[in-house]
Amino acid sequence: MIPMTSSGPKAFAELGLSEPVLRALADCGYTEPTPIQLAAIPLVSAKRDVLATAQTGTGKTAAFMLPVIDDIAGRPKYPGDTPLALVLAPTRELALQIDENVRAYGKYVRTRTAVLLGGVNSGPQIDKLKRGVDVVIATPGRLIDLVKQGAVTLADVEFLILDEADRMLDLGFVHDVRWIADRVPRPRQTLCFSATVSPAVRSLASTMQVDAQVVSVAPPAAVADHLDQQVMFVQRAHKLDLLIDLLNENKDGRTLVFTATKVAAITVARQLDLRGLKVGAIHANKTQGQRQAALEAFVKGKVDVLVATDIVARGIDVDDITHVINYELPELAENYVHRIGRTARAGRGGIAIALCGIEDVPQLRGIERLLKEELPVRDDHRWHSEEVMACLAASERAARQRAKAGRMRGSRSKWAR
Ligand code: AMP
Repeated sequence: MIPMTSSGPKAFAELGLSEPVLRALADCGYTEPTPIQLAAIPLVSAKRDVLATAQTGTGKTAAFMLPVIDDIAGRPKYPGDTPLALVLAPTRELALQIDENVRAYGKYVRTRTAVLLGGVNSGPQIDKLKRGVDVVIATPGRLIDLVKQGAVTLADVEFLILDEADRMLDLGFVHDVRWIADRVPRPRQTLCFSATVSPAVRSLASTMQVDAQVVSVAPPAAVADHLDQQVMFVQRAHKLDLLIDLLNENKDGRTLVFTATKVAAITVARQLDLRGLKVGAIHANKTQGQRQAALEAFVKGKVDVLVATDIVARGIDVDDITHVINYELPELAENYVHRIGRTARAGRGGIAIALCGIEDVPQLRGIERLLKEELPVRDDHRWHSEEVMACLAASERAARQRAKAGRMRGSRSKWAR
């Protein structure tokens, strides 16, 4: 008897997944499919190519992997370096997370995985491949190296999965992805997941897929309902003091702090450490081992605060993050949505606080435009700056005037016609 509830609109059992996979999902505590799983699983099971708009945090990994795990489970276990499924991920963090999920979902069918990542010694990865592998999860660069060395063969791959395709393009992996896709034989099933489907993503997908079904479950700027967003106006010189006050107020919480640059991440982490806070840091200067260690310390509660740059804004998936503090606002408004999506996960509540100085005003306006709402202002702190607030008001006024002037020019030209 599978302890799977039939509550909710549809249970996993109704999606045609096999009993061992359902049992693994029950172990994970999943009671019903998420919207992306409901939409994508039947299509993937029906062997369709799928182009899906879904962010990390929506349950997309299970959406693409469950039917694949199920399919592979029925096959003989081939020895050696010939995977049946290949998942490409843009970052190491995401690749490791996918691997963890695949192993959890496939634990009763003994899905064999190998993760191929750059920045670490390839020896253990090659050994793992030699022992036999069903699913390879890889970042593009390392995979290409290992294909060229003959350590992995793509000739038997039947499922090609591209995760976070938009990020893959942002990071300049387009040629690598094409190179890899050209070496995966057809016919095959190609699944492409992306937080946003831009024309560039669509164009890349169209070269890899055949008659893809398009699935979209959440608009790119969707923010969880139970996420409490706040903005605090503060002079740059007082940001650290305000951050420390906030962390002291939330001693029982688990807080992720985002900075715009690695230099800022290093400085903030050091300052917090000097003040006796238990803090870790993840940024581009850290090695893969250091990043993993920092993440694990955060997951296990050995550190209460993790300071990070946007390299983890999408990949990180830690339960119970109570607060996301944007120490500096991101250049790209969409990254704000990714950052705050690290809290209020899986139905829990969460608080996202934006610390806005004068230098962050343009970014705040971009974020509010994207979200189509103004973030609630919290001024009940000793570092509140009326000057920053006035700067925002002036910037909004200027924008309104520009828009009005544009409308007038438009109406004059109409008169002229
Ligand atoms: P993903 O979008 O794949 O990164 O998944 C985000 C988080 O949701 C992960 O922690 C998953 O373990 C979790 N998750 C995925 N599917 C479900 C589900 N059906 N019910 C509850 N949690 C889920």
